[in-house]
Amino acid sequence: MSCLFCKIIEGAIPSTAVYQDEHCYAFADINPKAPTHILVAPRKHLDSLASARDEDRLLLGHLLRTAAEIARTRGLHKGYRVVINHGEDGGQTVDHLHLHLLGGRALGWPPG
Ligand code: 5GP
Ligand code: ZN
Repeated sequence: MSCLFCKIIEGAIPSTAVYQDEHCYAFADINPKAPTHILVAPRKHLDSLASARDEDRLLLGHLLRTAAEIARTRGLHKGYRVVINHGEDGGQTVDHLHLHLLGGRALGWPPG
């Protein structure tokens, strides 16, 4: 198993857990770009959003719901952003699907 996030999800590499259930694991980003920067990853390995299939629709919805619930419990009532980077131009650096939950400051738009 060579995937970094699979290792994090299995606990082989330490991380700061934020939330977990049978379908996903949420943890603090090691290089935060905002006061709150949490990654939400499915336990199931998918290389990217493009690797998801119809059978993953419920899982994708669950990841979004989880991000929103973490934002609520973290008190991000002024707003936040949920991002999925895909591929080289999208800025993806880890090939295990994950959502970024960013908040705690005003975020610029469009992103760079
Ligand atoms: P991507 O660039 O693929 O959209 O996002 C990957 C994210 O994973 C980056 O924000 C990066 O800071 C984070 N990251 C990379 N390696 C580690 C790690 O070992 N632990 C944690 N907690 N986050 C990591
Ligand atoms: Zn993986």
